Amino acid sequence: MFSLRDRNLAREIISNLKEKDLSLNFMHVCGTHQDTLMKHGLDVLFKECGVNIIQGPGCPVCVTTPREIEEMILLAREGKTVATFGDMIQVPGEKQSLRDLRGEGCDIRTVYGIEDAVDIARREEDREVVFMAVGFETTAPSTASVVQQHPPENFSILCCHRTIPEALDAILSMGEIRLDGLIDPGHVSTIIGVKPYKFLTEKYGIPQVIAGFEPLDLIMAVWLLVKQIEKDKPKVENEYTRAVKEEGNIVAQKLLKEVFTSTDIKWRGFPVIPESGLILRDRHQEYDARRKYEDILSKLSGKTFREPPGCRCGELLRGLIEPQECPLFGKICTPSHPVGPCMVSVEGSCNITFKYSKRKIE
Ligand code: SF4
Ligand code: SF4
Repeated sequence: MFSLRDRNLAREIISNLKEKDLSLNFMHVCGTHQDTLMKHGLDVLFKECGVNIIQGPGCPVCVTTPREIEEMILLAREGKTVATFGDMIQVPGEKQSLRDLRGEGCDIRTVYGIEDAVDIARREEDREVVFMAVGFETTAPSTASVVQQHPPENFSILCCHRTIPEALDAILSMGEIRLDGLIDPGHVSTIIGVKPYKFLTEKYGIPQVIAGFEPLDLIMAVWLLVKQIEKDKPKVENEYTRAVKEEGNIVAQKLLKEVFTSTDIKWRGFPVIPESGLILRDRHQEYDARRKYEDILSKLSGKTFREPPGCRCGELLRGLIEPQECPLFGKICTPSHPVGPCMVSVEGSCNITFKYSKRKIE
């Protein structure tokens, strides 16, 4: 165990990396990792060491598809009370965002979590409340826990939960970019543990390190990946042992299994990724908004929804470009006037890049 504030260790690792003449691409899938990288200038420092770190599909808001947003918009237009997180409300749909609908008298509520949405349903029994549940394995247990507590009948969930290892599999199998290693997300790993990543190393021979969120966590993660590459012994290493247990959180895993089943689902910027979505099991179908409002949502069947014109979030989420390569970045698209979800969400790479490079743009 090392001290998270050990500057000398950080300097020593960076100077060792610089001596190695590296040319490596690593991907992480976590908004907080991206924030740490940019906030502390580690992205630049690693580039000087020959290590390019790319953010993949690691922002739950960003990977939510235009269709899912249109589903919520339609339910709101049909008089349902729609509740979700602040970021989600601002993501532009094909013509408007949920926030825009407020101006038309639709009932759109910003909540901090699913429990707030259940409270609205309890307090306002005459309203039909639909909660848009987004997020990875980190937030899905909260949804599962609420479902098990039998929320009121006027409450339902539009389930948009997704799982990370399957998305990493998709990225690697598509082979659009050369990846030499993966930095696996800390919070997700506290739930799922180490094992669910192992098939990726077996299938693709890719080194992986589960990392925490301090600068030194990421420096250590890069160092451990480089060591694995040098030894040609790829495996899944856990750098974040202070929070991630080998077996993960077994109680949360059991909860997820009891409430959800896996399904094939599209991610923004990706085709359908097999078994990467979570939907409510049949025994909980009374809370499934897609079943409850099947008649309303059938109006969307067969329709395709376009990305906002000019927005390159899809390529960004696949790690093919950096935010500044989008011609709209910082000009037409800013956090106060976002064109795509990656600029809306605080975990989105455009938003994070804008936040830390703002002075340069001005
Ligand atoms: S939930 Fe946690 S691990 Fe997942 S992307 Fe957000 S910060 Fe990263
Ligand atoms: S800068 Fe805006 S439009 Fe361009 S990829 Fe990012 S979110 Fe999309």
